[in-house]
Amino acid sequence: MAFDMEQAKRWMSIANDKIQQQKQYLTELDQAIGDGDHGLNMARGFQEVVKKITSTNYEDLGSLFKDVSMTLIAKVGGASGPLYGTAFLKMSLALAGKKEADDKELIAALEAALDGIKARGKANVSEKTMVDVWEPVMEFLREKGSLQAKEAALFAKEKMEHTKELEAKKGRAAYLGKRSIGHIDPGSASSYLLFAALAEVLEG
Ligand code: ADP
Ligand code: MG
Ligand code: MG
Repeated sequence: MAFDMEQAKRWMSIANDKIQQQKQYLTELDQAIGDGDHGLNMARGFQEVVKKITSTNYEDLGSLFKDVSMTLIAKVGGASGPLYGTAFLKMSLALAGKKEADDKELIAALEAALDGIKARGKANVSEKTMVDVWEPVMEFLREKGSLQAKEAALFAKEKMEHTKELEAKKGRAAYLGKRSIGHIDPGSASSYLLFAALAEVLEG
């Protein structure tokens, strides 16, 4: 099934619903090892994203995700704003001119998003950031070669939970050193919600 503009909008809308529902949870995660604003940052940003994209008609997926990116950069703030902003900017470039994307094209766009996150934040796997969800999920999808979105979302959840065991090496949580162990990384939790929302759009 092709991923089209309607589905892209639904993805962002379901992601927003999940983020609003989990706002307090994301806040609590960030209170434990950061500054406690991740829930607020994400809720503010995605609310604006949905407002923007539902009131706009797009010619292609590229321009839709460009607006997602610009809105997140403008509204989320903190470390995660530019990181998610870059992720969606890279997706928009990968999908420029396309009204719909097949599995391979959407996987390639998500890969570009991961590359953007890594280029921007310079984090690698095991440093207790959103990369600890994105990278293994993309490896999984690359191996499958098709968008097994439900399985990918379950895997994302596992990887989010696994960040509990890690010591933070990047971002605010790194100041805590070993004391960051035992807590789920907030950005990996919000990243899981993005993959869970995508699974709902693609596989109901
Ligand atoms: P801030 O830490 O500035 O308050 P947020 O609380 O919104 O920003 O986001 C924190 C999240 O950002 C972290 O949980 C982590 O997943 C992610 N993050 C922070 N620094 C990096 C980085 N260098 N690379 C990837 N992700 C990062
Ligand atoms: Mg924070
Ligand atoms: Mg902050």
